[in-house]
This record gives sequence, structure tokens and C-alpha cells, in this order.
Amino acid sequence: MAGNQRNGLKKLKIVFAVRSPVDKKKSCQYNFEQGPIRPPSEAKSLLVRVTRNCPWNRCTFCPLYKDTSFSIRPLAHVKKDIDTVSRHVSVLQKMTSKGERIYWNQLEGNLKFIEPDEMQAFYVALNWFNNGMKSVFLQDANSLILKTEDLAEILLHLKIRFPMVERITSYARSDTLARMNIDDLKPLRDAGLNRIHIGLESGSDKILKMVKKGATKAIHIEAGLKVKMAGIEISEYYIPGLGGKHLSVENAAETADAMNQINPDFIRIRTLGIPQKTPLSEDYKAGRFEKCTDLMTAEEILLFINNLTGITSVIQSDHILNLFGELQGRLPGEKVSMMKMIIDFLDMTPEDQWLYQAGRRLGLFSGLDDLKNPHRLKRVKKACMELGLSLKNIDGFIEAQRAKFI
Ligand code: SF4
Repeated sequence: MAGNQRNGLKKLKIVFAVRSPVDKKKSCQYNFEQGPIRPPSEAKSLLVRVTRNCPWNRCTFCPLYKDTSFSIRPLAHVKKDIDTVSRHVSVLQKMTSKGERIYWNQLEGNLKFIEPDEMQAFYVALNWFNNGMKSVFLQDANSLILKTEDLAEILLHLKIRFPMVERITSYARSDTLARMNIDDLKPLRDAGLNRIHIGLESGSDKILKMVKKGATKAIHIEAGLKVKMAGIEISEYYIPGLGGKHLSVENAAETADAMNQINPDFIRIRTLGIPQKTPLSEDYKAGRFEKCTDLMTAEEILLFINNLTGITSVIQSDHILNLFGELQGRLPGEKVSMMKMIIDFLDMTPEDQWLYQAGRRLGLFSGLDDLKNPHRLKRVKKACMELGLSLKNIDGFIEAQRAKFI
């Protein structure tokens, strides 16, 4: 982007590093890789793929890695991904003295210096650079399955290449963590692993068995406590609606009891969606699973929060599938205000309820207060009219919307 001084960009002739002949020889073996997902809270993180897919891959509600097989990426390949991003980041850092964003169109003249198969890594580096380069997320579904020494080596390599990083996180399965010793986890904390995200999903053994989670409530609790004892933050996911209509109350009560025993740093709510091509979708179509409506799910979340006692977790509702995007707070101080938000929704007239549901699922509302915003409300009503939405068909619309997300 030579010559462009917009946003303080320096006048520089940027030459993006071209790979050596040795690299080319290895190209058939090595590719820069990115996995398919990350937690919503890791939107600004650098994604580093250390394994591919899920070693369990049997949860009936999960569409993610079906028809794929699990593998561990070679350590050298993971380190090479990190080195590649580091190389691109170094070039980007030379373009601006004050850390301003660098826009794609400011780079046009320089992109020809990047080899086509390095473009993905460059884009990843640019995106991370523009997001402040503070956090890293290790993909895919269960990085803790790696040998402790290999994972520690990756973490230390990240720290060497990116000393400014403040947070390194990963998904892990409770079953894997419960089999580990605290002495396996502590070196990972010392090497820089700050937080582990676990899909607890439910504390009910009936539901965990029904959805083939591969963990029991006791395993979830053991895993969560070990992570905490090792000095690593823990973020536990809860799926309201996972027990269907029949086990909705049990899902709320048993999950709250599990959370009360773990006291995780974060409890994250991710409402059930039933994507096509999942075993749960087959159960649903065959009538073996009765899905909760939005109102039932709201009641389940209310009961769940009401049953959380004696813990100091932060509750976050940061998934697009959730009806309450603004539901957030630390226990116990903000418990009442979080419950009030749900009660306010349940106390609304049916007309306001379905308008809010529609507005939220259309991406036009983020919280209940948006109903009082005349401009937003007008847009929602217009969209509903165009889509033919009403109180009668809102549940069907929401179900279709929910099925689109994972
Ligand atoms: S929910 Fe997690 S553990 Fe279960 S199959 Fe999906 S990725 Fe694997």
C-alpha cells in the first residue's frame, strides 16, 4: 500500500514474504488451516487449528463434524501456521505507527506479492491485526486431547511470536478433562492457557444420555472443578430446551445444580436449534422429541437462573439463537435484574411477545427496550408484513430461523 497515508499509514514499499523453494516442496503436505467454528466470545481472536473436527462426534443435536474424522495436526504444521500469521502481522505493523485499522482496499497494490495459497493466512492476520491482537482461540472441538507437552509447546510458541496476547482459550470435552490430572493442567496454565470452554449443555443425566453427550453430570462437575483448581478460567455452556417439553423443568433444575457445584467463571446460554441432518432432527420429525417454544424456553431459563445459588459466575447470553440478547450479569448481585427481564417478557401481551420474538430473530431487536423504539418497531412491523408473519405462525418462523444456526 505504498504511498497511502490515510489513517496514519506510513509510506512504505511493502513486500510480503514469498515462500522459499523448501516451503514449496513441502506444500503438498502442509496447508494453512482454519476450523469451522469458535465461541461467540472469541470473535476477535486469532483462530489456530490444532486438531481437526471432534473425537467424539456423537451428540445428537450437533451438526458440525458429522461425516468427518478426527485428527491431530502435526505440531510442525501448527507452529508453521503461527509463524505465517506472525510474518504477515510484522509487515502490517510496519504500515502503521499507531495501530490503526488497515482496510483491504488500502492494500491493493501489495496483494500481488502474496502467493495465492498464502492469501487465507494473510486475511486471517489482517483481521486479527484489526481486532487488536489480544486473544487466541485453539480449534477444533477438543484441543485438550493433545499430549500435554505438545499443547504446552504450541502455547509457548504463541507467546514467543505474539508476546502481546492476553488470553489463549480452547474448547475441551468434560470427559477428556475428567481423565486428566491437575498436574497435566497446571503446565498448560503456566504456558498461557487462560480459559477453557466446555459444552456442559445439561446437568440432567437423562438428557445427557438421550443426546449422547458422552458425559454425565458427575463427569461435568469433576472436569469443571479440576480446571478451576488448576487456575484456568472456565466457561460452561447451557442449552435451554435440550430436554424438550417433557424434560424442560429437569433441564433447568439439574443444570443449575451442576453449575452451583462448579461455580464456573462464565455460564453461557445457547438456546437449542435443531439443524437438518442431525439425529435430533430425525427424532423431532418422527415425534420422539417435542421442541419447546420460545415462551417455554423463557420459562426454563427463568427457573434455571432462579435455582443458581451460592455462586459468583457471570451469565452471558451471547449467542444469536437466544431470545434475550441483553441477558447478562454477575451472580448473585444481578440475579434479580436478569430474572426481571425474563418476567417482563412473560408478562407482555401476546401481540408484544410475538413482535419481540420476530424482531429479535430478524436481527432488528437486541433487547426488550427496542420495542419502545418507534423506528425499530416500524421496521419490524414492515418486515413481518412482507414475510406474512403473525401470532399464528411465529413459532414456525422461529423454528426455521433457529435451524440455520449452530
Ligand atoms: S457438541 Fe461438541 S462434543 Fe458433541 S459432537 Fe459436537 S463438537 Fe463433538
